[in-house]
Amino acid sequence: MRYVKPMYYDKFVCIADRCPASCCQGWQIVIDDSSLDRYWNENGFFANRLKNSIDWESGTFCQYKGRCEFLNEKNLCDIQETLGEKALCDTCRNYPRHVEEFEGVREYSLSLSCPEAARLMLTEQSLVTLTEWETTEEETFEEGFDFLLYTQLLDARKILWKILQDRETNMWIRLEACCLFSEKIQVSLDQDEYFGIDEWIRLHERDFRMDYKLAEKYRKEKDERNWEQKQKEIQVLKDLERLDPSWNNLLEEAEDILYKKGKDQYEKLCTDFQIQYGYNSSWQEKWMIVAEQLAIFFLYTYFCGAVYDWEVNKKVYLMIFSVEWIQELTMCQWYKEGKILNQDAVITMAYRFAREIEHSDQNLLCLEQWLKENYGNKQPDLRKE
Ligand code: SF4
Repeated sequence: MRYVKPMYYDKFVCIADRCPASCCQGWQIVIDDSSLDRYWNENGFFANRLKNSIDWESGTFCQYKGRCEFLNEKNLCDIQETLGEKALCDTCRNYPRHVEEFEGVREYSLSLSCPEAARLMLTEQSLVTLTEWETTEEETFEEGFDFLLYTQLLDARKILWKILQDRETNMWIRLEACCLFSEKIQVSLDQDEYFGIDEWIRLHERDFRMDYKLAEKYRKEKDERNWEQKQKEIQVLKDLERLDPSWNNLLEEAEDILYKKGKDQYEKLCTDFQIQYGYNSSWQEKWMIVAEQLAIFFLYTYFCGAVYDWEVNKKVYLMIFSVEWIQELTMCQWYKEGKILNQDAVITMAYRFAREIEHSDQNLLCLEQWLKENYGNKQPDLRKE
């Protein structure tokens, strides 16, 4: 079996009572069957509390005022304090560690929805790399797994990775170039032309910057209709399932501050933001690296999942949409705070965004469907390019 993890993976340590948004509040925590058995058979003095604080029908911990009933006033877990770490259920023991499974491969990642994991990822200054190792463990074989497509996706991901880490190029051009490349792959895939995918990959292996000119053109066009587009997109975000009620206020506020005063005001705000955030050398560096690490996170976590649904470009659209919206909502906070910005604001927005969007399958599906129908570039016939 082959295992893969990003270089920061092992650095993660839960900050428990110092966490600004504990994972033990606001969510239903689902308990695995073997932990449910263990809790049911507990005999000690803690047994009664365990039995009374679990919803046995749904297999989740009961909550009080949105907090897990075992999260005590010091923001520590009573199960862990009383019965030890081994007594934690799988969800609590593993989070924010996540694993994506492919035939013979396990890819480990951290979830962006955890504030400490988000801080680790987004403050990383160097280029993110992956560590791989093999074990003698027997490989898993899934019936119907498209191994050829999977290896092509791995190659395509390497190219996208290279584009995203091309620090000599403006981040928005990099994102647009990723979009163009993924659309080429998608067109070949839709036509069942695996050799076409190979061709695009080989061409980009020779020159991964080959789409930059077109990317620049599309980005300019996108910037021109940004005000209209962002208003459509915020409606999509508002229509998604709500996990944190205060997310609503954030979106309402963003709509009022950013869009309701008209296109000119919005563009002025964006320019001011870019001058402070984009052109000031130290901030530009910081933001461009944060945006790059965000994009790398979404690429690594989702891209190869296209082997199961054949939706390559949707994975890249989700990546771009997420980076853009984390910036958009951060810009709103910057305005509210009197045009002052710090890195914590971006980290907070990143984990809040991830909690709302990524932790609801329904939201992810709705958003991906909308992106498929409304996002991306309508490129002319790719074969004739
Ligand atoms: S969200 Fe992350 S840092 Fe916070 S308590 Fe949970 S695992 Fe720990």
